[in-house]
Amino acid sequence: MAFRRGRREREAVAQPFPDAWRARLAVRWATWSALDATERATVEDLTKRFLARVRFEPSQGFAVTDEMRVLVAAQASYLVMGMDDPTLDLYSRLTSVILHPRTVVVRGTHSVGRHLETDSPQALAGQAHHRGPVVLAWSTVAYEARHPERGQNVVLHEFAHQLDMFDGMIDGTPPIADRELRERWVRVCTAEYRRVRRGDESVLRGYAATDTGEFFAVATETFFSVPERLEEASPELYDVLREVFGQDPAARARRRTD
Ligand SMILES: [Zn+2]
Repeated sequence: MAFRRGRREREAVAQPFPDAWRARLAVRWATWSALDATERATVEDLTKRFLARVRFEPSQGFAVTDEMRVLVAAQASYLVMGMDDPTLDLYSRLTSVILHPRTVVVRGTHSVGRHLETDSPQALAGQAHHRGPVVLAWSTVAYEARHPERGQNVVLHEFAHQLDMFDGMIDGTPPIADRELRERWVRVCTAEYRRVRRGDESVLRGYAATDTGEFFAVATETFFSVPERLEEASPELYDVLREVFGQDPAARARRRTD
C-alpha cells in the first residue's frame, strides 16, 4: 500500500541516516554492534520511516530529544525487521509514543482492561494501548537497551503487544500468515504457557504467567535479550519465535563471540 504513504514519510526515507544518530545507537544500544551491515541498513531505513510516522509526546515538563526518539524507534524497527513488513504496516494502529522521564508510580490496585496493560502494580515502565499510544519510561528504556543480559526490554515488550493487538485481539499471537507455522506457534506456546502457569522452572520471568498476552511479550523480550539462554532451556519455543520474527539472535550472539 505504498501509494498511501505520505510524502513526508517518503522524503524522510530518502534522507541519509544521520551519523550522529548512528553514534548514539552505538553507545546506547548493546545490540547495535551485534548487527551486520545489512541488518543495520534495514534498521536505519525502518527507523527513519517510524520517526516520520509516529508522534512522540513527552509527559509534562519532560524534554524528549532526538536520541530518545531514535533509541525507541530503532528497537521497535529491529523487532519487526525480519517479519516481511518493509513499510511498518504492523504498527499502523499505533497512534503515538508517550515518554515519561522515569517509571510512573501508581497507587492502589492495577486492575486494568486487556486493552491497557501494566507491568508492575507500583512502577509502570510501559503500557500498550489498543489503537492508541505506547507509553514508556525513558529511564527503563535507556537502562535495558544497555543491559540485555538482564533479559528484559520494555520497548520490545510493549511493541510485542502492538504486534499481538494487530488483529484486534490480545491473545498472545502476532500476525502469522503461514497456517502451519501458526498452528505450531499455538501448540508450542500453549505448552510453554502451561509450564509457567504451573510454576515450572523457566527462563521466562514469572510475569509471563499473567495471561497469554504477557506470555508473548515476555517471551519476545527474552528471545531478543538472552537468546542463547532461551534456546538452551526451551529449544522449541526459541525455534518458533525464530521463525515468526525471521531472526536468529542466538546465532548472532555466537557470531559475535567467535
Ligand atoms: Zn505487558
